[in-house]
Amino acid sequence: MTVRVAVLGCGVVGTEVVRLLRTQSEDLAARAGAPLELVGVAVRDLTVPRDPVVDPELLTTDAAALVDDADVVVELMGGLEPARSLLLRAIGRGAAVVTANKALLGADGPTLYVAADEAGVDLYFEAAVAGAIPLVRPVRESLAGDRVTRVLGIVNGTTNFVLDQMATTGADLDLAVKHAQQLGYAEADPTADVEGYDAAAKAAILASLAFHTRVSVDQVHREGITSITADDVAWAAETGYAVKLLAVAEQVGAGDDHPAGVVVRVHPALVPVGHPLAGVRQAFNAVFVEAEAAGELMFYGRGAGGRPTASAVLGDLVTVARHRVRGGRGPIESSYAELPVLDIAAAQTRYQVRLRVADRPGVLAAVAAAFARHGVSIEAVRQSGASSEDGIAADLLVVTHVAPEGALAATVADLAGLDVVDTVVSVLRVEGA
Ligand code: NAP
Repeated sequence: MTVRVAVLGCGVVGTEVVRLLRTQSEDLAARAGAPLELVGVAVRDLTVPRDPVVDPELLTTDAAALVDDADVVVELMGGLEPARSLLLRAIGRGAAVVTANKALLGADGPTLYVAADEAGVDLYFEAAVAGAIPLVRPVRESLAGDRVTRVLGIVNGTTNFVLDQMATTGADLDLAVKHAQQLGYAEADPTADVEGYDAAAKAAILASLAFHTRVSVDQVHREGITSITADDVAWAAETGYAVKLLAVAEQVGAGDDHPAGVVVRVHPALVPVGHPLAGVRQAFNAVFVEAEAAGELMFYGRGAGGRPTASAVLGDLVTVARHRVRGGRGPIESSYAELPVLDIAAAQTRYQVRLRVADRPGVLAAVAAAFARHGVSIEAVRQSGASSEDGIAADLLVVTHVAPEGALAATVADLAGLDVVDTVVSVLRVEGA
């Protein structure tokens, strides 16, 4: 018996998957219980030059015909269509599927999960979240007997590289993005990374698994890093923090105006320099998972790149191939908990609010009163800068205790209307403290 494998896509990841299939075929056969036979590689354009590891005879533009000829379909094309239709076609035919497509799973994972469940086939997607880092399987399988309360982490290497560059060189965002592009960490169009879309898709996938609840990317509160200035990063460092783009998925209790549920958010945040997430440099990823019995777990490693991502794909491929050979199936997605997915207003965290204020008596009292009006308690206040000629003092930095997002938003609106406040310079959440 052989397991017939179709690979859809021969780009950054697909090429490395083909390489590992060729160079490690004996080990893979021993682990899967049968040889893995690569029956074809679907591409868009046959004239594109390919790595010599890819046998030109295997290339085809007829992805549908290839799908119909395989026991296992490995989708590495990306995008919503035709990836979704091809995966559904494979599932409908009884093939097992492996995908790294976070955009598709974040937008429409449940359609695929339900189809795979009904067809009784495996759907594995370790590479869709945090590249090489085993994270999907620990959350989906190892923690199946526990209750996850929070997932918090850096799941986009490009933005981490950009923010790390800003912190270490003082560069502004545009310059740091250009550097990331030159080194191949950022795409020519960096929107999906810098606007947080990529991280939001991963957050939706992780939240769905962690909380046994369907969460789509549309339900993820998303703020990218485009509003982060060199000044924000310098201020953060001066006050003992690193700026990181975080994905946070957490259970929250019932509040006055919302039931208990789940909040999923992606946004820049200040992380204290002593926290392990602050030490995640370059394009690395790191994710904390907090569970009731297990406590805090940390996962760290390379979140992208052809070879690291191919490692996760091959791990899935061996698993589903083994199931084909020996029988059995991996876990199915469960959404039995059906927790309400709540608006960001239900989240609670700490905040650092930076204000440019008038340089005159009574300013502190007026600012403190605005926080008090909305029930937001202040942990620390720091004023910096000498008086200027126009009567505007430099900066007032207010760090709050944990407060509801809605109350903080109302406070900021209130502050902006005070005549002693010239500008609300920045509002950043503080996580991991
Ligand atoms: P890529 O380099 O852009 O490669 C995409 C491949 O898919 C190309 O070979 C392309 O063909 C082929 N393709 C695209 N549309 C097609 C169509 N309609 N029919 C047939 N073939 C088609 O992408 P990648 O970076 O390898 O990423 C692949 C997947 O892995 C994506 O879902 C991505 O999100 C995910 N992923 C990537 C990384 C990473 O580090 N790159 C990490 C984790 C997950 P041509 O070569 O002919 O254009």
